[in-house]
Amino acid sequence: MSEVIYRKYRPKVFKEIVGQKPIKITLENEIASGNLAHAYLFVGPRGTGKTSLARLFARSLNCTNRKDKESEPCNNCENCNLILAGRSMDIIEIDAASHTGVDNVRDNIIANSQIPPFNSNGYKVFIVDEVHMLSKSAFNALLKTLEEPPKRVIFILATTEIHKVPETIISRCQRFDLKKIPIKDIVKRMTEIAEWEKVQISEKILSEIARRSEGCLRDAESLLGQVISISGGKVTDELASLVLPNSNWQAIDELTGALRLKNLSTALNQINKLVDEGADLNIFISDFVDYIRQIMLYKIIGPSFVIDFDDNLTDSIKKHAQDFALEDISKLLNIVLDKLSIKETMIDQLPLELACVEFLLAQEETKDFSSDVVEEKSKKKINLNTEDIKNLQTNWHKVVANAKPLNHSLSAMLQTSHPLSIEQNLLIIGLEYDFHREQLDKPEVKENLIATFNEILDRKISISFEIDPNYKQNHQNFKGKSENGIEEVLDTFGGEML
Ligand SMILES: [Zn+2]
Repeated sequence: MSEVIYRKYRPKVFKEIVGQKPIKITLENEIASGNLAHAYLFVGPRGTGKTSLARLFARSLNCTNRKDKESEPCNNCENCNLILAGRSMDIIEIDAASHTGVDNVRDNIIANSQIPPFNSNGYKVFIVDEVHMLSKSAFNALLKTLEEPPKRVIFILATTEIHKVPETIISRCQRFDLKKIPIKDIVKRMTEIAEWEKVQISEKILSEIARRSEGCLRDAESLLGQVISISGGKVTDELASLVLPNSNWQAIDELTGALRLKNLSTALNQINKLVDEGADLNIFISDFVDYIRQIMLYKIIGPSFVIDFDDNLTDSIKKHAQDFALEDISKLLNIVLDKLSIKETMIDQLPLELACVEFLLAQEETKDFSSDVVEEKSKKKINLNTEDIKNLQTNWHKVVANAKPLNHSLSAMLQTSHPLSIEQNLLIIGLEYDFHREQLDKPEVKENLIATFNEILDRKISISFEIDPNYKQNHQNFKGKSENGIEEVLDTFGGEML
């Protein structure tokens, strides 16, 4: 089944080729204009479409229905059908991995290339896969033919290891470097296939398949085939997990969040929960490293860096990139990689746990030894663009008013406070003075506040209070240019101040 999917949906026309746009356009232009090279070199990782592209190119050149100045083959004429069935005399595919010797090159390529193509208006096309496997003498023999190419003969050499191909060969070819296929494109292609196969499958599972195949469309299609073959038309998460190794992106995101908030106990609990659930820790850690790396790259490069995840995770990564200091994220990555080198431990999760502890200790140290610098950096700005904060901004008067029945001075303290951030449903409220925190952090007061915040934000949240080192500016920004500022304060105090 899995192999079937791959063969069944092998691209038959250029517009079906996934990714490789610039290469596709160049080849199509060459076909349409008849301005062809004698030899082509397709370089790229496995499963990126080298042979698919080579066969399509060969078919298009030999299609008898193809019109002048067009590039797509008809896939219907005799030539197209022969080539599609692998029975054309003019298209010779050679796997250099199993034909490394000079004799093979002499017999299969050199001698054969002297015979004109069967289709006299078409081309004889030699597709040599894994060309880097040829022996030195085989390369030399091939080079002679490339230097004096027979008429109407085209060579397409494909390789995954260009460094093993002699420079003399490379310089005789028009070279194309095929790229790994982006996850989004793989998901799009698999969505089409699932539709044709009339199978229901969530985007989450498709993204996971795409991630697992690391830019190799053939692997993705093969995994998709396996997933489809065990399902009866509807692929559930449970069924998919039988084929796909389990990865827990949600857990990775939560672990990253806990580390950013310096919440060591949450981080360690998260790791141990995963182990209890039987997660594959090796996959988890390698995904975790990938995740932190993408945060770091986005932080440095900015929006022009394409995050290779689905939309949900992409949003989380952007958020982490915004909130993590670059210094911290690179430190985290370094520490995790360093701890991964610990091989001999009886407890699988220990290296990751140690990495978390060390990361947070490292941050404590920086604080102790250079508190001024850290304080400067930790002057957090409220992000007034988030929906939650905006919502709180418009409704802060409710927070103040609802606290009034409890105690007027509490109400006044809230009037002078502001939300600093909200993440993972934890709302941090910034205060100017420590004694405000003592008053507000009492259980009965918190309970009352939480009820109000739940109502405003329309979900369950928890709160904590912090002294805001950037209090003045943040408070000013949060209040905005409110004309009613004074009236609000007076109202809070019930006019008693006057
Ligand atoms: Zn045709």
